[in-house]
Amino acid sequence: MKYKKILLKLSGEALMGEQQYGIDTNRLVQYAEDVKGIVDQGVQVAVVIGGGNIFRGVQAENVGLDRVQGDYMGMLATVINSMALQSALEKAGVHTRLLSGINIQQVCEPYIRRRAMRHLEKGRVVIFGAGIGSPYFTTDSAASLRAIEIEADVVLKGTRVDGIYTADPEKDPSATRYTTISFQDVFEKNLNVMDMTAFTLCKENELPIIVFDMNKPGNLRKVVEGESVGTLVTM
Ligand code: UDP
Repeated sequence: MKYKKILLKLSGEALMGEQQYGIDTNRLVQYAEDVKGIVDQGVQVAVVIGGGNIFRGVQAENVGLDRVQGDYMGMLATVINSMALQSALEKAGVHTRLLSGINIQQVCEPYIRRRAMRHLEKGRVVIFGAGIGSPYFTTDSAASLRAIEIEADVVLKGTRVDGIYTADPEKDPSATRYTTISFQDVFEKNLNVMDMTAFTLCKENELPIIVFDMNKPGNLRKVVEGESVGTLVTM
């Protein structure tokens, strides 16, 4: 395995699968199986999952609610997704711990870095819920920050698209996929990889990012083995 410790970022939207809202259990089961496959190979796996399939902070503003309140609602949405993923992983026979950026002691441990590191060493999958625990951030920022904190080798951004394209492939059929690209080129070409806060954190800490299609079973393993799947962003 090329990567020994990874931070896997899953978007909430990808969890919807074919549905318009909520959680598609088939997708969840596939994710759990894919994660199990690499855990069984001794890879340390931390996961951050988004909440976009349930609620996003910006939605609150659109309907006249308070932004900060909306962001907390979004963070709680990520806890719901995290709990669902935790359950699916445990069903697949994987040991897990859910650590939350907001204290919800009946269902998650509080986020404590040293504890997260220890869980990982013991082979448990650590799921980070509630993002960073602060409004005005996204789960991409949480993924970058936690990855740096736990000294992950790479951030794997699992999405519905199979990498970073020269243009939006859904709008421009001539768009081509990069296999690798530098942080600088992503900035200069104004490509959409993560939000800027998250992206800058990775760049400044020289933490590579791989964007890949997580919905294709087996892809996660290929990425971790070092196969050229998706797009690798490096210095
Ligand atoms: N959020 C937040 N702080 C964080 C992480 C998330 O305020 O550290 C809120 C924010 O409102 C965001 C929502 O939680 O819109 C859901 O997360 P995100 O949009 O990143 O989910 P994804 O797009 O990956 O599904």
